[in-house]
Amino acid sequence: MEKPAHWLFGDQLGPHFLTPGPQGPDRGTPLVMIESRAVFRRRRFHRAKAHLVLSAMRHRAAELGDRVRYVRADTYREGLRTAVGRRPVTVHHPTSRAALGLVRALDQVTVLPARGFLVPQDEFRAWRAEHDGGRLLQEAFYRRVRREHELLMDGDDPVGGRWNFDHDNREPPPKGSRTLGVPAPYRPREDAIDAEVRHDLDRWERDGDVRFVGRDGPRTFPASRREALAALRRFLTHRLADFGPPEDAMLADDPVMSHSLLSASLNLGLLDPFECLTRAEQAWRSGAAPLPSVEGFVRQIAGWREYVWQLYWHFGEEYRSSNALGHRRALPDWFLDLDADAVTARCLASVLAQVRDRGWTHHIPRLMVLGNHCLQQGWDPAAVTDWFHRCFVDGYDWVMLPNVVGMSQYADGGRMVTKPYASGGAYIHRMSDFCGPCAYRPDRRTGEAACPYTAGYWAFLHRHRHRLAGNPRMARAVLGLDRLADLDDLLEEQKGRTGPP
Ligand SMILES: Cc1cc2nc3c(=O)[nH]c(=O)nc-3n(C[C@H](O)[C@H](O)[C@H](O)COP(=O)(O)OP(=O)(O)OC[C@H]3O[C@@H](n4cnc5c(N)ncnc54)[C@H](O)[C@@H]3O)c2cc1C
Repeated sequence: MEKPAHWLFGDQLGPHFLTPGPQGPDRGTPLVMIESRAVFRRRRFHRAKAHLVLSAMRHRAAELGDRVRYVRADTYREGLRTAVGRRPVTVHHPTSRAALGLVRALDQVTVLPARGFLVPQDEFRAWRAEHDGGRLLQEAFYRRVRREHELLMDGDDPVGGRWNFDHDNREPPPKGSRTLGVPAPYRPREDAIDAEVRHDLDRWERDGDVRFVGRDGPRTFPASRREALAALRRFLTHRLADFGPPEDAMLADDPVMSHSLLSASLNLGLLDPFECLTRAEQAWRSGAAPLPSVEGFVRQIAGWREYVWQLYWHFGEEYRSSNALGHRRALPDWFLDLDADAVTARCLASVLAQVRDRGWTHHIPRLMVLGNHCLQQGWDPAAVTDWFHRCFVDGYDWVMLPNVVGMSQYADGGRMVTKPYASGGAYIHRMSDFCGPCAYRPDRRTGEAACPYTAGYWAFLHRHRHRLAGNPRMARAVLGLDRLADLDDLLEEQKGRTGPP
């Protein structure tokens, strides 16, 4: 029988997807990569995301040289036929249900285990079985991963005697300072491959069959292993030490603060999570970064990223259409078009502009500014998920579904998190410098200066009071509704509101 070729998906670009062994391709195995234009035709992606993905695939193909057959085709099926005909093919477990369904449906394809995550799926299934019927707590899973992979461990105990530094890592931004003052993150330099990608995207748009959203300025995220390693190195050396305490804070003029900007590289497979974790631990052991910052970073990757990946497969396909709160409103055009200039609320305008300009904003703006607004407005969670997927450079099906359907929109009715992430302007005011010059006041519920988040929060609680009153973490907030003398006015004003806030 003919020796199989090996297929690399566009998010399997690092060396760990080619490690030889019984569950990986041999050293000399011919490789196939397929660039499918239909993917971009189906949905309106952020142009910087399309640029990054194509640039990263083409950079990888250039590195692999003659070993890879790089095919540009309309669909994956067509591309595979062109590349290998009927020849058998192996592929590492893809990251979406759609892609998994496709490769499983092709007789010639053998699916190898997933790479790029710490915990094999069968281990997660075993852990889940141990917790049969109980809640799948992220914290418990995270501790297990730490033990299993000996991350920040001192024998059986966590180093420093504590598993969790969340309390230290929730500081508001520094007062009176417009930036965090940490060294800037790594910036790649574009090359001839980027110029070719930009030229192709322009042509596709001109042809009229592909439409993008957002701006495709100079590329800000790594497109090759070399660039991704440089970005990791710069983060570990210059920025990790300050990662923890302001992790949840937001500054209008410093959107990146001390965040790593590594999600796009991890999700393209340019970096392996384990190398990021061990090198972060090394930074702590060598005294280069304090424990709260290093534990905070390790928790994001070994805890949240890993947990989200496992939940995507655990929750199943129906999870996508969850809508426990019955939210059905369509997303307005200004939001779909990332029209930040149409928005008055300074937090939302700033964050939407960040998405428009680079297809990225950090976790708290995603959750507490963008997601919070979508939730309060009762926008259809499937459409919100689609929006996040298309507009973020690091957005993939597996990471979007739990983060948006579960964490941000509470559309799963609490399978992932214990309460909705809804909050009024007071939270944004405490954790950012957005509110000072804003036309709205975070403590106003009604009138011209009513903060859309504060009014939206009470309207949301009112709309779902019966469901939320039974949630021990929300019951007090729901009781607060009865103390609002202006609730009727607030609800009336909310009804009359149209257009961007
Ligand atoms: C509504 C919403 C949508 C999100 N969509 C995505 C997405 O499409 N892709 C994505 O990678 N992350 C997503 N996240 C998680 C998180 O916001 C991003 O991973 C993070 O902001 C990326 O920036 P960073 O690399 O600087 O992260 P850092 O703050 O530096 O964190 C380090 C790493 O931890 C990982 N991480 C942290 N939290 C999560 C999480 N909840 N899920 C998965 N990985 C996590 C990421 O790989 C990240 O690079 C989303 C969160 C929310 C609330």
